[in-house]
Amino acid sequence: MNLRLAGIGMTSARTRGRLIERLRAEGIVDETVLAAMYEIPRHIFIDEALATRAYDDVSLPIGHGQTISQPYIVARMTEVLRNGKQLGRVLEIGTGCGYQAAVLSKVAKEVYSVERIQPLYERARKTLRELKIYNTNLRYADGTTGLPDAAPYDGIIMACAAPALSAALREQLAVGGRMVLPMGTQEQHLHLIERDEDGFRETRLEAVKFVPLVMGKA
Ligand code: SAH
Repeated sequence: MNLRLAGIGMTSARTRGRLIERLRAEGIVDETVLAAMYEIPRHIFIDEALATRAYDDVSLPIGHGQTISQPYIVARMTEVLRNGKQLGRVLEIGTGCGYQAAVLSKVAKEVYSVERIQPLYERARKTLRELKIYNTNLRYADGTTGLPDAAPYDGIIMACAAPALSAALREQLAVGGRMVLPMGTQEQHLHLIERDEDGFRETRLEAVKFVPLVMGKA
């Protein structure tokens, strides 16, 4: 058996349980999201030297100047995206280590995720395969304008912050779909975009701190 996976013993199950209780205390109520977060071993996505902090509710470095998002943020964005319903096809921009994609794979039928830094893309692919997650489709590409070839999406999540939402990306949202993204430069907030037959509705949610969206492949 793979050595890193062998680390998922009683201890990490208990530790993961504590993280779930913490997420509940912070206001996450969607049981489907909490179950998905319980199921995905976060320590597999980060460097072994940081593994002891894997179940703390903090973001951690993953190399190349990027971070794995804070568990609360992953849970919150997934909860807002789901809105209590099973998701069909979902797009994530900014795969990073693949943790959010793994959580999404448990609550959506299929997940597309785009990353502009090649070594991160490759590592994420390997990790998701190790975890036997087969409904994710990762792409090494610039996600600034989304991923038109698999559009429309029932849900879109951005894991990096842009000053504004591009019209091209917005158009890839299906009617009835929801998009959750951080926006802003100095100060960022999560925004929810909902699309219905009449158009788009935008709601500003809480303040957040994400790495910036960068154009072009690295
Ligand atoms: N989803 C990750 C968070 C990764 S951090 C998690 O589960 O923890 C955000 C990622 O967005 C970084 O890896 C960064 O390289 C990527 N990114 C930034 N701009 C991008 C772009 N234009 N296209 C694709 N990925 C981008």
